[in-house]
Order: sequence, then structure tokens, then C-alpha cells
Amino acid sequence: MGDKISREVRKKGYLLFREGKVKKELETDKRVHFKVFGETDTYSVIFDKERNEFSCDCRFSTLKQKICSHVIASEILLKEKLKR
Ligand SMILES: [Zn+2]
Repeated sequence: MGDKISREVRKKGYLLFREGKVKKELETDKRVHFKVFGETDTYSVIFDKERNEFSCDCRFSTLKQKICSHVIASEILLKEKLKR
């Protein structure tokens, strides 16, 4: 599998974004902080501008070291912001 993102995770991330479950909280010179409101919990996603990398504090992401739906949702939000 490697770091390939499953279709299911992408779809979940897109739905989180569409339902307005992801919010940009704070932006600094180096990072962008997001909050994602999941079914049972709220997660913190951080985008590191220097590394061009996302990280999330959910179990899926931290245990499996994989891109989760929260990161996908934040990535979409970040790209949408750039378009405007
Ligand atoms: Zn996550």
C-alpha cells in the first residue's frame, strides 16, 4: 500500500469538507492549523508549509502512519482558499 490513499478515505475527507466539518483555526509563517469535527471527536490537523506536509492527531493517522480523511478535508479547504 505504501502511502497510497484509499478511495474510501478520500471520499470521507471530501464529505467532511462539504458538510463544513473542517475549519481553519490559525495561520502562522510556518504552519496552518485546522480543526476537524469528526463523528465522535475533534481532531487537530497541521500543515507544515516548509515541509509541505500535513499531520493529524487521530488514531488512524498516528498508529497507521497514513493519510486520513481529516487531512484530505483540510487539504481541500487549503486549496479552495488558494483559488479565491
Ligand atoms: Zn486524522
